[in-house]
Formats: sequence, structure tokens, C-alpha cells
Amino acid sequence: MYQTLLYYKIEHIKYPESEMKKHLEVCKALQLKGRILLSKDGINGNIGGTLESVCLYRAYMDAHNTFKHIDFKQHDSEIMPFPRLSIKVRDEIVTTEAREDIDWKNRGQYVGRDTFHEWLKAGEEMVIIDMRNDYEWAIGHFKNAVKPPVKYFREIKNTMEYYEQFKDKKIVMYCTGGIRCEPATALFVKYGFDKKNVYHLEGGIVKYAEKYGNEGFFEGKCFTFDDRIAIAINTTDTAVVLGNCELCGVNTDDYRNCLNKHCNKLFIGCDECMEKMDDTCRQECQDIIKDAEHMRSPRAHTKVLHRNK
Ligand SMILES: [Zn+2]
Ligand SMILES: [Zn+2]
Repeated sequence: MYQTLLYYKIEHIKYPESEMKKHLEVCKALQLKGRILLSKDGINGNIGGTLESVCLYRAYMDAHNTFKHIDFKQHDSEIMPFPRLSIKVRDEIVTTEAREDIDWKNRGQYVGRDTFHEWLKAGEEMVIIDMRNDYEWAIGHFKNAVKPPVKYFREIKNTMEYYEQFKDKKIVMYCTGGIRCEPATALFVKYGFDKKNVYHLEGGIVKYAEKYGNEGFFEGKCFTFDDRIAIAINTTDTAVVLGNCELCGVNTDDYRNCLNKHCNKLFIGCDECMEKMDDTCRQECQDIIKDAEHMRSPRAHTKVLHRNK
């Protein structure tokens, strides 16, 4: 059994390059794998390893001047969730393409999972906005949530006009672990939304699901950015399947990668269609892979899904 660790911290880092080097040493020594981004604005990590490694890493972080007090999201995973380790310094720890508009000191407010759950139960008047990408939304989201009209979160700045309709309403935004909502609430405030009305689900879907997975208001699965692809939120018989096969429309939430290596599209496909199409997304791709040279390697096919960014 392995562990996954999802975390972030918004905190000024004076020398991200040197933190990156120290992190590389620590993570290599602990044989951790996954992705960590550092910038002057903080750290964003999604890593995995054995229970012992993950515990040692957390101890390192808890004792660190800059990185202490992180609320880690740690979960079991049947598989080693990442194939390799990547630690990088970037301009942004979460891509918004709007960095110059983000004032980290002027963000919205957090709403904890308990209060949010109470609001949902009471039918509180609010607009719930899903801040994730299209392909994440497709297989699971909060009941009655709104999906902004963009494919990727990083296009958020182009959607500010769309949000105008919610300007006087109470807004609760959410994402997987909460990090995308940090710059998102700051952008809303920058664009004239009243800070008092802009909420951010603290800890995202992941924290909510830890407590309210089975009887909560999240429907379907939660997309993960590791080799598990998606995790069930509701593990009882009452779980609903959101998502439809792109080829025949049947209800399913299985993500696939087209076997044509030049296409490699990530799409939802049912077992029956995949058998008929030889694991490709359309006729052209099926024709191309008749020449095996155009097929992705079998390992990549079964284990690693390409996420179109
Ligand atoms: Zn199908
Ligand atoms: Zn294809």
C-alpha cells in the first residue's frame, strides 16, 4: 500500500531555486515521486510514496520555517501513484495566466466543509462555482454547481465577464484540493466582487469527501492528477455515475487515452466501444494503428493517461 500527499501553501518564498534544490535532495533520499512546484508565492505538491517516506517528508515540512502548518491531504493508494519525480520553479504554482492581477493579500474567505455542508442541506441561496477543467467536471461535481464556460481553469481571466451575473450573490467556489480557488478568489476581489460574498471551500473536494463522501452533495468521481485517474467519493450503492461515452453516449466515467500515439486524446469511453474501436477515439485513429508503429507503447496505454494539460 502506498500513500498520496496533496498539499499547498501560499507563502512568500524568497529563494525558490534553493528550496527546490533542498527539496530534490530530500525527496530523492525518501524515494518520493510526483510533482512539486515552487514559486515566490508558495509551494504546490502532489506526491506519493511509502507510508514511512511520506511520514518523514511531513516531519521535514513541519519542522521547516517556511513550510510548517500545512494541512496535508494524505490518502491510501493501491498503486505507486506517480511514475517519476519532478520538482520545478515556475512563475506560478498554479497557472492562471493572470499573475499580475493577483493580490495574494486580498483573497476571499474560507468556508469549512461542515458549514458548507450545512448550507447545502439547508438549501442556502448561493452560487456554487466549479473552478476545475472540463474533463474533471465531466465525471463528477457538486450538485447544482455552475461550470464556467471554459475548457481549462487557466482561462479564468477570460470568464470574468460571465461571473458578473453573480455579483450580488453569495459565491462558493471549489476545486480538487483548494489551490485553484486561492488565486481565483483574489481575481474576483480584484474585479470588484465584495470580499464578504466570495467563499472558497477550504481543502476542496478532497477534504469535503473525507467526511461527507457517502451522504454528501458531491456526485460522481473526483479526477486526480496521478495514475489513479479518479477516485470514488461515494463508496456506497447510492453512488451515481456521471459522464457519458463520447462514442455511443452510454453512462460511464472511464477515462481512456487514444491508442494512436499521434492523437493520444483523453476521452470517456465505454468497454464495448473500446473493443470495437481497438482502444482508439475515432475511425481515423483506428485506421492509423493498423500499422503498429503508430501505437502508443502498451505500458503507457495501460498505466499513464495523458491529460491534454
Ligand atoms: Zn460507448
Ligand atoms: Zn484518436
